[in-house]
Amino acid sequence: MKNTYVYVVDNNIYINLTNRCSNRCEFCVRYYDKPIYGDLWIKDEPDADTVIDILSKDYDVSAFGEVVFCGYGEPTYRFDAIEKISSYVHSKGGKTRINTNGQANEILGEDISERISKCIDTINISLNATDAKKYDKICHSDYGERAFDIMLDFAKKCVRCGADVVLSVVDVIGEEEIAKAQTIADEVGAKLRVRTLL
Ligand code: SF4
Repeated sequence: MKNTYVYVVDNNIYINLTNRCSNRCEFCVRYYDKPIYGDLWIKDEPDADTVIDILSKDYDVSAFGEVVFCGYGEPTYRFDAIEKISSYVHSKGGKTRINTNGQANEILGEDISERISKCIDTINISLNATDAKKYDKICHSDYGERAFDIMLDFAKKCVRCGADVVLSVVDVIGEEEIAKAQTIADEVGAKLRVRTLL
């Protein structure tokens, strides 16, 4: 089967760089029986030049809303490629977003908040829950209950670097949890986005 590295949904271009993830979220689309956006499991991770080549041949990135690093895994495993692809997107007048679990600094073993704030226009971090225990129960991170604080620390550092940071939750958590999530977002200095569960 052909690898899908680039796909389009609702006038946004999505870049699928990896299947690796430090979480195993119970609601993750990759565990659905029927793929939502086609089969996004990839056999080989593309290098940045492969993706830039696809974008330059097939897409006018400035004509799309955003180029989004997302797919069936945690994109920051491929942060070096993200930086390079983002630089291309910006050089062509496009905008960038990342959908991330916020665990990049632990995954990569270094603080990338300053670098990611420079190359990504909107950093969308999945908050998912309002405390460490609830987060672990849903997301089953490799880092256990530490993952929640790792994610919030990353969010705060990106805000400090001047990034546009959005924390997201799904609407099924209920009004009380959404209100708590809003408080967390306010404390971090981020926006809150309440998503509808697919
Ligand atoms: S962090 Fe994202 S890719 Fe990873 S398991 Fe959760 S929803 Fe899926």
